[in-house]
Amino acid sequence: MTRSEPPPAAPRSAWRAGWLRGARRVASPNFGPRPAGTAIDLVVVHSISLPPGEYGGDAIERLFTNRLDASAHPCFETVAALRVSAHFLVRRDGGLLQFVSCDERAWHAGASSWRGRADCNDFSIGIELEGLEGDRFEAAQYERLAATLSSIVARYPVHAVTSHARVAPGRKNDPGAGFDWELLARTAHALAVEFIP
Ligand SMILES: [Zn+2]
Repeated sequence: MTRSEPPPAAPRSAWRAGWLRGARRVASPNFGPRPAGTAIDLVVVHSISLPPGEYGGDAIERLFTNRLDASAHPCFETVAALRVSAHFLVRRDGGLLQFVSCDERAWHAGASSWRGRADCNDFSIGIELEGLEGDRFEAAQYERLAATLSSIVARYPVHAVTSHARVAPGRKNDPGAGFDWELLARTAHALAVEFIP
């Protein structure tokens, strides 16, 4: 005699229209449509801190939502008028924010190219790590980044993870020498993606 068990609950999708469950949503107006038929196959890793080297404030989310007060800090004057965004931000404590649906085109890479294809914003997902170029990153950030990549790879045909520096050489250096690509590769070893600093 077999005991009947209730059917397992259907897994809740980690994604809803390009938004990742578990990320705090801070919707940015800085996005647009991806070109029709684009395969989203690349993740670009960045670093950002505002003011540079200061962590934990709300200036990054203000920047990405066009609410940064240019007079609040001398270094904000030059960046407050930028219209930029990324899909995700990983805070120092591993907290995850999402600004743009991954189905849409965020404005993170600028003039860039990857393996002969220009304009990486069209086909990439941009992930900012709260940090300073050259500075180290926190263990919680590697763990959250790896977990986020796992969710991304399960949903999108991403097969490579690289740096902003790699896609915009001579113009950008982030996430910088303090970012440990080997640690990321070890943390995310189960994923079938290439890590290309
Ligand atoms: Zn960048």
